[in-house]
Amino acid sequence: MKLIDGKKISSDKRAEIKEEVAKIKQQTEKIPGLATVLVGGDPASRVYIKSKIKACEDAGIKSFHHNLDANSSKEEIIALIKKLNENSEIDGILLQLPLPQNKDAQECLNAVSPLKDVDGLHPFNAGLLNLSKSWNEIIEKNILVSCTPLGVVHILHKSGIIIEGKTAVVIGRSNLVGKPLSMLLLANNATVIMAHSKTRNLKEICKSADIVVAAVGKSKFVNKDFIKTGAVVIDVGINRTSEGLCGDVDFDAVKDMDIKITPVPGGVGPMTITMLLENTLKAFNNRKRYLSNRMP
Ligand code: NAP
Repeated sequence: MKLIDGKKISSDKRAEIKEEVAKIKQQTEKIPGLATVLVGGDPASRVYIKSKIKACEDAGIKSFHHNLDANSSKEEIIALIKKLNENSEIDGILLQLPLPQNKDAQECLNAVSPLKDVDGLHPFNAGLLNLSKSWNEIIEKNILVSCTPLGVVHILHKSGIIIEGKTAVVIGRSNLVGKPLSMLLLANNATVIMAHSKTRNLKEICKSADIVVAAVGKSKFVNKDFIKTGAVVIDVGINRTSEGLCGDVDFDAVKDMDIKITPVPGGVGPMTITMLLENTLKAFNNRKRYLSNRMP
């Protein structure tokens, strides 16, 4: 087994982002800004928000945090988002998910200006991703794509793993992870199978794949029976168990196989926040271009 070091790839990328932010400051006297919105006080969400704010500070990105009461109505959340849309110091808006009390998150996400949609969850950006024909097009057009899937592809590229022509199975079809990741792998010319809870013969399907991505949300779900020799295994899962933080892959069960694998923690997790910083820079540049095109 060979570990794919997401932590190292992530810290290298953060150093590049920090340099880019410093250059922007020097050339434009502007500081890219990210607003985070937390509704309620879910302990895991608090930890994520704290890490996001800290990462912004480290990179020189200005952060603006808003904490709304857990009982806030959908209208109150949307009103705050609209205010953030109007704030010229803010380039990106991140609404921390999940929202409490099963509030319809998509309706709130739809209120985020597509130009500030650093999570890539607005229908406009999700649509651009689906319409794009290649990875180059996604990069050249600065399309805002959901951070975790973007992080996974970055990890694959930086690890020298060739995606083109490979068979990739993505277990999970959420709007946040599975769907956008499948589109990104397709744009990288993989043959993609998107699996879900109704998929039959999942083990056999995975066993035939060169790349297996587990984004299921079930600890140790993927074991030896899912993986072929030589496969690349990307574990997106973050599950809090009595044994501690645990991925969707049963790491101990596969660790003696001849595979490449991202660990949990230290694999995909750090890349998600790094891609949030990257998307904030993209949003800054997209807004700058958009606003200058609007000038008479
Ligand atoms: P989600 O919205 O709950 O989606 C889970 C997906 O897994 C669904 O599509 C579901 O299928 C599928 N699934 C559930 N049981 C299955 C089964 N028995 N066989 C095959 N597919 C099954 O979760 P998510 O937001 O995509 O997140 C997935 C995991 O990634 C979670 O552990 C989450 O904590 C983690 N995550 C990590 C990061 C990070 O930064 N590393 C970021 C986001 C999420 P159906 O659609 O049919 O229900």
